[in-house]
Amino acid sequence: MITKTCPHCGIAFKPTRRKQLSCARKRCIAAQAAESRDRITKYQAAHRAAKQDTIAKSSAAYRAANPDKIAQYQATYRATHRDQIAEYQAAYRAANRDKIAKRHAAHRAANRKKLAGRTAAYRAALRDEIARRTAASNAANAKKRAKQNAASRVAKRLSKARIKR
Ligand SMILES: [Zn+2]
Repeated sequence: MITKTCPHCGIAFKPTRRKQLSCARKRCIAAQAAESRDRITKYQAAHRAAKQDTIAKSSAAYRAANPDKIAQYQATYRATHRDQIAEYQAAYRAANRDKIAKRHAAHRAANRKKLAGRTAAYRAALRDEIARRTAASNAANAKKRAKQNAASRVAKRLSKARIKR
């Protein structure tokens, strides 16, 4: 007859059943039961997680492969359940009024910051652009004025020369 060592008390025992893992002490039986329960729970959780992962993967693949079919299905669903959806949404809004208000406020606050940042960036960009344009126009005007001055000097010289003759 084989003997096993009880993992809970470390004492050798002769199992009466093939799958008996602990000795027959109440404390060890309880400990063994708790361990099995724990193992089963863990196994079930892992199994559930694996199953969910598989489901998520296969539904993602389905969505990717059948976008038209899904859009069609959703449109049909919305059309046939219009009242139900409206009712559900109204109930949700009524039940979550505070939550929704808070979410809206948070959204507004976040966008305000974003918007303010965008406006500042726009103003800065505009400032640079205006400065660049002003400088370019000043340079062009200076060139034009210089050309005009030169032309008028030449004209004056020419007219003086004509008078002398
Ligand atoms: Zn034991």
